[in-house]
Amino acid sequence: MACQYECQKMTCEEPFSCPASTPKMLAVSVDGNRKQYRFRQSQRIDEPLFKGPFIMEDSAVTDFVDKVRTNVKCTPGKGTCGTSQWSADRETARRASRLDEEGLEMAVCRHGVLLKALNMFRGEIFAYLLFLETQFQATNVHFYCKDIACKYWPYLEKVAKTMPELRPLLSMQPFLLVMHAEAHSTKCEIVWSGRNLEGAGSTAGEEVEMVNSFLSRCAITTKYMTKSAHNDMLTVHAMGWNRRKQENLHVVLAKRYVKVIGHTIAMLEGETQKMKDTCEELGCPEDKVQQWTTHQATISLSRCPLSSYF
Ligand SMILES: [Zn+2]
Ligand SMILES: [Zn+2]
Repeated sequence: MACQYECQKMTCEEPFSCPASTPKMLAVSVDGNRKQYRFRQSQRIDEPLFKGPFIMEDSAVTDFVDKVRTNVKCTPGKGTCGTSQWSADRETARRASRLDEEGLEMAVCRHGVLLKALNMFRGEIFAYLLFLETQFQATNVHFYCKDIACKYWPYLEKVAKTMPELRPLLSMQPFLLVMHAEAHSTKCEIVWSGRNLEGAGSTAGEEVEMVNSFLSRCAITTKYMTKSAHNDMLTVHAMGWNRRKQENLHVVLAKRYVKVIGHTIAMLEGETQKMKDTCEELGCPEDKVQQWTTHQATISLSRCPLSSYF
């Protein structure tokens, strides 16, 4: 498999990129998988076959995390929003003593293709998210999707003040995963949920959960492996997942297109009928009713206490 990867590299094939999201990527969804831990029991150290095509090298991640920590003071506290507590929100998380890697933080595109990952050693800290975000700086990503975007974005703004090289990351738009948003506070859901973002279309941001459920099954054996075998096995599985995704991409995209067009036509027909009924009821021409509706919507929005966020 490693030889196959080297051959793919020579022919410029990219196993960890999505053809539908190249060169412009609409959304990247990031989440941690805590089931991908590995026990400390195996002390054997050998070189992995794959060095960084999928799982980033630990030394690069650690250097970055240390640099962020020297520049920005950690703010301890519980990650709460609404009535939920979020594990991805602890900047000062401690290491578990029996484990080496505590899990895997992964980034996937909106078509479910695996792009990058890193080993977590301190739970899901914001610095890991930041490191993954820096990996997409050159790929024109528009939305950066996270289940705790409401907490992560202020953190990024704070870090960008002291580390100017990270300021370009602010051009990505934060996107709160659509289904996770329902567990946040109402204000949070209105301001950050991907459902309310212009240009997001039907992106849910939850694609990473689909990959998580696949990779979690590998953890049954990988948790007992050596560091290098753990790295290689997960990379091989990720390559297999991506290959299947890329082979079926044309079918999935065609199905999605037909579904979206059908949904849009049904919605348009419904709205047109509603407008006709209103015009008949009021005995007014259509353009007049449309003018009233737009005017009313503008007034309602200007009176809304959350309007400053739009
Ligand atoms: Zn894609
Ligand atoms: Zn929130």
